[in-house]
Amino acid sequence: MDIVGIKLSEALGGRGCPVCRAMEKFEEDEIEVILYEHVTDPGVRTKFRESLGLCTRHAWKTLEVALKNPLLGPLGVSIIYEDALDVYLRGKREEGECFLCELVREKEKILIEALAERLDELLPEYGSSQAILCRRHYAMLAEKIKDKPELLKKLEEVQMKKLMELDNRLKAFIDTYDYRSARKPTEEEARALEDTIEFLKGRPVVMSTGRENRRGRGWLFGLK
Ligand SMILES: [Zn+2]
Ligand SMILES: [Zn+2]
Repeated sequence: MDIVGIKLSEALGGRGCPVCRAMEKFEEDEIEVILYEHVTDPGVRTKFRESLGLCTRHAWKTLEVALKNPLLGPLGVSIIYEDALDVYLRGKREEGECFLCELVREKEKILIEALAERLDELLPEYGSSQAILCRRHYAMLAEKIKDKPELLKKLEEVQMKKLMELDNRLKAFIDTYDYRSARKPTEEEARALEDTIEFLKGRPVVMSTGRENRRGRGWLFGLK
């Protein structure tokens, strides 16, 4: 298996949606690279100016990444945001596209394509793992392999099996709250709620904004 295959196989071995998790990791790495190397880079600065300091989610995420890393701290973020504030003071009011959102979306496409290409090989691993592709990424992957009906059918079977098991696990968790129940939830049952939210909603990697929806970009809603 090639490097991408190995990375995907690792992601499939974890919990939750492997695509969301890989995007999350990518997002954090990108933020660190910007803060370590590109705070005063004119290209990066222009991108921050265009969006008046990224989208709401990525602005806070950038601050969070900086503050939790003792090697970074608030200086780089302060420089970036002083610049964005300055641009606002000089008259810029319109918030442009967040370039981190764009980067993460691009990564998402690449991950889905890579997964689709290697699915034959990776499906057994996915089947026996605790990972569950979220609704969005399952739909994207299914769309990508729609011209391979046999593989699609196998994927559907694996996914349904996982979701039934998840549903049972969440029901069992709820049942432990019954006053007649004498047992505490198992660790797996206690995880069921988070796993269910992760399946239905994915990880909060790229948020859609009101602005995007108005423009009809609707990337979050474009997929069934
Ligand atoms: Zn996902
Ligand atoms: Zn963003």
